[in-house]
Amino acid sequence: MRRFRFAFAMMLICLAASGRAATVYTGDVIDGVRVVSALDVSDLEAGKKHRFLFQGVEMATGQRWYVPFMVAKGVNPGKKVLLSAGVHGDELSPTDVLQRSFAELDPARMSGTVLAVLDIARPAMEQIRRKWPTPVWGGKLLDLNRVWPGREDGNVAQRQAWLVWNRLFKGNVDAALEFHTGATGTDFALFVFADLRKPENRSLAELFPVAQIKDDAGYSGTLETAFMEAGIPAITPEVGGGRSFDRPKIEACVEGVRNVLAHYGVTERKVGRTADQAQAFVGNDMEAIRASRGGFVETLVTAGAKVSTGQTVAIQRNSFGDVVEEYKAGVDGVVAILTTDALLEPGSRIVEILTKSPKCEKDGCTYREEDE
Ligand SMILES: [Zn+2]
Repeated sequence: MRRFRFAFAMMLICLAASGRAATVYTGDVIDGVRVVSALDVSDLEAGKKHRFLFQGVEMATGQRWYVPFMVAKGVNPGKKVLLSAGVHGDELSPTDVLQRSFAELDPARMSGTVLAVLDIARPAMEQIRRKWPTPVWGGKLLDLNRVWPGREDGNVAQRQAWLVWNRLFKGNVDAALEFHTGATGTDFALFVFADLRKPENRSLAELFPVAQIKDDAGYSGTLETAFMEAGIPAITPEVGGGRSFDRPKIEACVEGVRNVLAHYGVTERKVGRTADQAQAFVGNDMEAIRASRGGFVETLVTAGAKVSTGQTVAIQRNSFGDVVEEYKAGVDGVVAILTTDALLEPGSRIVEILTKSPKCEKDGCTYREEDE
């Protein structure tokens, strides 16, 4: 018994010293899929695709939210690339990007690993809404993209982030592609957020054949910035608007994933169409034009359109049809985000223009979403 204890202790010390966690199977199987509470991709059989449910955070009923994920583990070692979707529950095109990208992988010919993690804010997805609904104070909404890398003893969103970060991502990610879309009620051009001050982020961003790239310093609490703070390159591609599939933008992002995997030598493909070939507009600042009045808004531009200073981008009318306001671009640039809701309260965002601003050149500027 004593010898056994000693051997067991030595094994734990060796595991700790090697920095390796281990995949932990809970023993549960849900709809034929095995449940894990921790992942170490080095445990998985090479040359194969695997699918699991990750045992996520415990809810008020004592039950758990499960996070579906897939691993394509190449026959040869190499870079470990994360594709993530569903940190916001109303952003659905990213799911299609992940499914399509994963389907075309052949692990028998890969060097490295692709980890695709979906439905991370699952209760938000069940309601197709951005934020995670909780029973606290009679119903409170939490933004899962403001809490990374989470807290073990925090609120439900912080605990979910902590579990996913520490038990699912940690040790399994060398580079991260964190997919999002515009919020419900907006359209978003084909766009990538990236901190271009870091050369590897720049490479990743430029491998996407997108229309627009925003050099963005990022901010703590987002998953992209949590990776950057951990020294792992990460970018946030935006795949159009919320709630629906945007087919052309999905196709372009699948091309981007293909290029990133080719760039890292995970697949044997050649890099295809990039941001350069798509003649991407690279900006470092956003001008938000907000409604100064309540009323019905007619937008005169589309997401992706070029605009110049002084150009009228929207007209607003009251209920009688009288024009109450005209909105003009204050900068030269391209339309990144555009309202699709035609009725706006004062202060609501109508359009967001990506532009190049000298004040953002040195230290970078950070884009913050409208509800903050
Ligand atoms: Zn989002």
